Parts: sequence; structure tokens; C-alpha cells
Amino acid sequence: MKVLVINCGSSSLKYQMLDMKTETLLAKGLVERIGTDGSVLKHEKTNLDDKLVREIPIEDHKVAIASVVDALIDPVYGVVKSMKEIKAVGHRVVHAGEKYAKSVLIDDKVIGVLEGCVDLAPLHNPPNLFGIAACRELMPGTPMVAVFDTAFHQTMPPESYIYALPYEYYEKYGIRRYGFHGTSHKYVSERAADMLGVNIDDLKLITCHLGNGASVSAIKRGKCIDTSMGFTPLAGLAMGTRSGSIDPAIISFISDKEGIDADEVLEILNKKSGMLGISGTSSDFRDIDAAIQQGDERAALALKVFAHRVRYYIGAYIAEMNGVDAIVFTAGVGENDTNTRDVICNELGNLGIKLDLVKNKVRGKEAIISRDDSRVAILLIPTNEELVIARDTYELTK
Ligand code: AMP
Repeated sequence: MKVLVINCGSSSLKYQMLDMKTETLLAKGLVERIGTDGSVLKHEKTNLDDKLVREIPIEDHKVAIASVVDALIDPVYGVVKSMKEIKAVGHRVVHAGEKYAKSVLIDDKVIGVLEGCVDLAPLHNPPNLFGIAACRELMPGTPMVAVFDTAFHQTMPPESYIYALPYEYYEKYGIRRYGFHGTSHKYVSERAADMLGVNIDDLKLITCHLGNGASVSAIKRGKCIDTSMGFTPLAGLAMGTRSGSIDPAIISFISDKEGIDADEVLEILNKKSGMLGISGTSSDFRDIDAAIQQGDERAALALKVFAHRVRYYIGAYIAEMNGVDAIVFTAGVGENDTNTRDVICNELGNLGIKLDLVKNKVRGKEAIISRDDSRVAILLIPTNEELVIARDTYELTK
């Protein structure tokens, strides 16, 4: 059974086509600059060196999906003979509020509920919904599934998700911690149990999704009990360009001093802070690492702040779970950046967390990178959010 996975942003769309009998990737691609000049589709068929690049006008998400389908049925680059072979479509949807703790089969009622969540994710949910609407129009009768970034975190207990604000704001507006990157935390926690050969019900895990956006989760017996992102993905760790959690009073202070409004301050916290803000160089850890090699002190400080925050959550979650069996690193930085993993794990030995500096010299593949005498296992697991979306889609539609 062939499943198409769609991840729709405001001006871009990523997709993958998988055969779920064998869980193999058949093709993947990206449509960029939807609705602006220079739009382009880039498509890759597995095991074919040559890539398909189509620079064509793509005015909206419907045209984008149509161009994806064209590529998927292309005689050379395609992987199906006709659209009918696409048996189901899985959509990444960022926010489901408290409405869904699991993936759901999409119908008109679900669409209505998700429209009601737009307030909670005004930048992300609308493009996700455009993608769903475009697919439903182009592929009527093909079942569609929504897979949510927030769903995995719905198992958090109230003491983790309630902010110490007047309770009526939670009741009236749904202001609480939701958490994001849920499909990634779920995937790596399940893989960690497989790699360790231990039932997930017997494990306490801390999963560190460290990419351009970054979050840490505490997962006890397969269920998320806490996570570092909050009401929005701005909270928690310092990130590529995001500040992470700061004293909220700083917002009005900057607003007064700089003569800008709260939305402009938030823009700075989202786009000009984090590694970029501290280093003044770049949000990309490859550039930060290179600058540190050149003796750049602000880049070195940025990395120390990042590692400090990750350790802060690791410590907090060990306390909350009364122990930890394994720590998992995933996403762009977690999978690839040997130096950052080293800086994070340095001096955690008294907690039984000992990184093996030789085994740590690995990138982008599953590995156990802790020392043999480390009480806590340290794992590197490349994330695969698309596979989780495809699996849930398959399960709900097969
Ligand atoms: P993601 O958001 O998971 O795609 O992660 C993207 C980020 O991963 C980039 O902005 C880089 O900071 C980081 N990254 C990717 N490759 C490497 C690498 N080889 N070494 C260090 N950092 C990397």
C-alpha cells in the first residue's frame, strides 16, 4: 500500500511517498516559493541519481500538490502509474490543542475542529489546512489522516502543563503548555527501546530533539510526562534563532527601550535570538563550530548557553522521573554535531552519564555512544517523522 506524506508550510511543501508493506521510501521532494516568483519543484526518486527540477509558476497549494502528483506519475521519475495507486495521504498538522491525543482520519468535522485551533498556531495550522483542502479536492475519495505535533505530549499530567497564571486563562483561552516535535520524540523513544532490547514500559527516557528548533522530553513508560516547549514553540531551550524561555518581563522592557510593540519584540525572540542572537554570526551549528575554531568568543558563549539549557532540562527530568535509563540525541544538531553532544554531556559523570569520546565520533546513524561503565545509555537516533506519519496513516486506513 502506497502512502503519500505531506508537510505543508506557508510557502513550501515537503513530501514523501512510502510503500508501507516494506516501509520503504520510494520518492521524496520539496516545492519551494509557493505563491511567489521563482517557485520550483525538486523531486528525487530513490535509487535514481538524476533529480527532477521543475521551475514552474506555482501560485497556490493546490497547484503545488498537482505538481507533486505530476512528478509522482512521471514516466521516468515517477513511482506510480496513476494517482489511484496512492491509497492514503498523511498530513502533518502542528496543533490540535487538547482536541486530539492521537492521529485521526480526516472528515469535515475534523477540519472544523482544526480550524478552531488556528488561534493557537496562526503561522502553522492555516498552511497545513490549505494542504489538506488541496489534496481533498485533487484526490476525492482518497482517505486522509492528520498527524499532530502536539498529540504525543497530551499524556502530560496537569502539574506539567498548567502555567501558574489565573486559571481562567486556561479555561477561556486554552493557555497551557502543549509541546511540539511530538512525532519525533515518539519515534526516537520507541527506537531507543528497540535498540536497548528493553520493553518501553520499563524505561525512563530523556529525548533531546536538537535541530534548528529544539526541545527535550521526559518519557516514562512510553508516555510523555514533560517537555520543554510550551504554549508555542518559542519556549524552552535556546535554539537556532529562538530565545527559548526568558523572563517574561523582558518583553515590555525591550518594547519600552527600543520603542517597538510586543509583536515586534516577539519577532526578535523568534527570528533574531538564540545562537544567532548571542553569536552575532549564524544560527547554524556548523558555522558556530567553525567560528569557535577561529577563536570567536561570542560563538563559544552561544554554544555554552545552548549546552547549559539542555543540561538544565536533563537534570530537571531526572528529578521528575526519579532517574533515567537512556538519553537520546536526534535532529540536525543532535544527529550530526559531535562537539555539541560532547559539550552537553561533559561533567555529567556523577549522574551516571558518561559519553564515550571515540564512539561519539559518529554522524547520522543509530549508535550507542555511552561508555561501557555509563549507568545511563546515551543513544544517537536519526529521527524519522515522515515514517511515523506514514505508519499512523496506514494503520487508520488499511
Ligand atoms: P533540523 O532543524 O533538524 O533540520 O536541523 C538543522 C540544523 O542542524 C542546522 O541549522 C545546523 O545547525 C545543524 N546541523 C546540520 N548538519 C550539521 C553538522 N554536520 N554539524 C553540525 N550541525 C549540523
